[in-house]
Amino acid sequence: MNTADTGQLAEQFAEIGLVPGVALPEADLAVLVTCAVRQHAEDKAASKIGELALWKRERGGRAIAVTGCMAAEHGPALLTRFPAIDYVFDVREPDGFFARVRELYAGALEGPVPLPAGDQLCAYVPVIHGCNEMCTYCIVPFVRGRERSRAVADIVAEVGRLVARGVREVTLLGQNVNSYEDPRSAADLAALMAEVDRVPGLWRQRFLTSHPRNASPRLLAAIAELPTVCEQLHLPVQSGSDSCLGRMKREYRVADYERTLEAARARVPGLALSTDIIVGFCGETEAEFLATLRLLERVAYDVVHVQAYSPRPGTAAWRRPDDVPLAVKKERLQQVLALQRTISERRNRALVGTAVEVLVEGHGADDGRPYGRTRQGRVTWLGRPAAVGELAPGTVTGATAWQLVAA
Ligand code: SAH
Ligand code: SF4
Repeated sequence: MNTADTGQLAEQFAEIGLVPGVALPEADLAVLVTCAVRQHAEDKAASKIGELALWKRERGGRAIAVTGCMAAEHGPALLTRFPAIDYVFDVREPDGFFARVRELYAGALEGPVPLPAGDQLCAYVPVIHGCNEMCTYCIVPFVRGRERSRAVADIVAEVGRLVARGVREVTLLGQNVNSYEDPRSAADLAALMAEVDRVPGLWRQRFLTSHPRNASPRLLAAIAELPTVCEQLHLPVQSGSDSCLGRMKREYRVADYERTLEAARARVPGLALSTDIIVGFCGETEAEFLATLRLLERVAYDVVHVQAYSPRPGTAAWRRPDDVPLAVKKERLQQVLALQRTISERRNRALVGTAVEVLVEGHGADDGRPYGRTRQGRVTWLGRPAAVGELAPGTVTGATAWQLVAA
């Protein structure tokens, strides 16, 4: 979402006449798009602000702006905490910020500048902002607000503009993307993807992140039937224990969730499944954690993202004791990673000998080998020359837990 917001800000800077994406040594203004989902993300932003403070001191006329979720969370308090910051603005309402920048540089601006020529193949397109769920650990609803879907026509027009600039793959984004609903026609995500599918020149679409509650048969049919929709479903489960899910207010049970995955696998041949897990949530017992490991074994996901629980101010869980010791959280994290490594490796090895289609994104820095992603999103190295932007067919010849090799 921050990558998408950054692209959007770049377009707005270009419109008022500031050249976006300039390397820091030549830049006058640095804009930091922050994340607040875990304390670690905030710590990273704080250290980046420290670096930028030094950058700002190197010469006069430089300024620092901070936006993204930390700006929504802390607001102007950031200006006091980090005196080097000049502007804090809400990424959802940047007009005031752009008006000030325009005023400040008025004499130096000469109207819109062209966006730097993009060689971008893959782009993110936000289709729904905010989230109406209230998972007890999560700060997103507080910093991103309630759900607001964009109109199908606007999204299709944006995808058309991206394709005209060379983009071949789009990822439709939302914190809860499968609760998308067109404000006028009430079209759902499946209907939206059917419209996007018709944009000439678009090869692939993906979508992120889905809530298990809204993984409807219509959505599965769209993945199975629409030619551009890739065979990939990211369905965060967070925990394999019903009691823990209850404390997280995830509003589904493990058995229902597994039935959804079974239906998805039955409906979409070759579907890649991935998930998010939180270990060490308030009160997580050893038995609850083991239930998560058992779920990972039963499902055999292709990719698992695992995080240690990080208390977020203002959330419901903030008021509960963060009672799983850090050492235990780390140990559980390692156990998930170790288990998933063997599962991912097994699943990737099973692909040796099968056909894949790789959208070439670049060439390795060391050996110049082309790499890209398959429709299932697996990073794949090609054993023969191929140009960036090519849709290269291949046969898998080797696999590790995280990557494939194809000839
Ligand atoms: N809307 C998505 C995810 C949004 S946040 C969903 O419903 O799953 C992305 C991931 O960050 C979450 O899936 C969760 O695994 C992780 N996350 C969110 N809040 C967290 C917290 N307080 N501590 C640790 N991980 C967290
Ligand atoms: Fe956060 Fe996702 Fe839950 Fe929304 S659905 S509150 S974004 S974890």
